Amino acid sequence: MPELPEVETMMRSLGDLKGDALLSFDFFWPRQVEPSPAIFKEKLTGAIIKEIKRRGKYICLFTDKGLLAIHPRMSGSLAVLPEEVPLGKHTRLVAHLSGSKKLQFDDARKFGRWKFLPPGADIPGVGVEPFSPQFTAEWLYDTLKEQKKKPLKALLLDQSLLCGLGNIYSDEVLFAAGIHPARPGSAVTINECKALQEAVLAILSKAIELKGTSFDWAYGGGSMQNNLMVYGRAGKPCKNCGTLLESVKIGGRRSVFCQKCQK
Ligand SMILES: [Zn+2]
Repeated sequence: MPELPEVETMMRSLGDLKGDALLSFDFFWPRQVEPSPAIFKEKLTGAIIKEIKRRGKYICLFTDKGLLAIHPRMSGSLAVLPEEVPLGKHTRLVAHLSGSKKLQFDDARKFGRWKFLPPGADIPGVGVEPFSPQFTAEWLYDTLKEQKKKPLKALLLDQSLLCGLGNIYSDEVLFAAGIHPARPGSAVTINECKALQEAVLAILSKAIELKGTSFDWAYGGGSMQNNLMVYGRAGKPCKNCGTLLESVKIGGRRSVFCQKCQK
């Protein structure tokens, strides 16, 4: 599933849509539209795009009539194309734009979502942005303390706390900070929170620079996979110490770690 760097890359590839109008919509798989295609058409037809931004793992088109928030989930991809380009085999949604362009959403597995939110509303369940001033070691320390015994891996994946990390980058962050994925959040020290905060920013920045990780058929073009230290490397030697990396299931998600480097 695309995480913050892959969604950021997808968002940047759309170019500058500021000032373009949303003229009309085609919904080929209406279940992906929230609250409903009818409300979408009613609220957003004729809306002018003011700003395009990433928020967590969403691509957000802020308009004068409200927010169009797109979550690619497992296999969704978004592109701005000339109107004459034919629909793809897996095209699920199209927003026709001014200037004979269209915003086309292809999604083989149909897990992606398009949400409408009224002006001024934030996306429910999306917490603090890693690249915002709110994300400090102190904030992380206080937030983890409140979560009592929940394991750190699960807490880093919880989008309502810190948004943007998924399975790949949470494993990489824990390795860089030298912390075991099963450690309870409340047992993490302020110095470790500082290490975690620095690791989050350094790893996400590097991944954005490399246009994300190309991990399966659905998402290509990035080269961060060549820089991963632990994700997808269970049973292989740790790049730091040579110990064979282990894999453990935490809260339904698999986490790869080094038992020597991560305490
Ligand atoms: Zn190691």
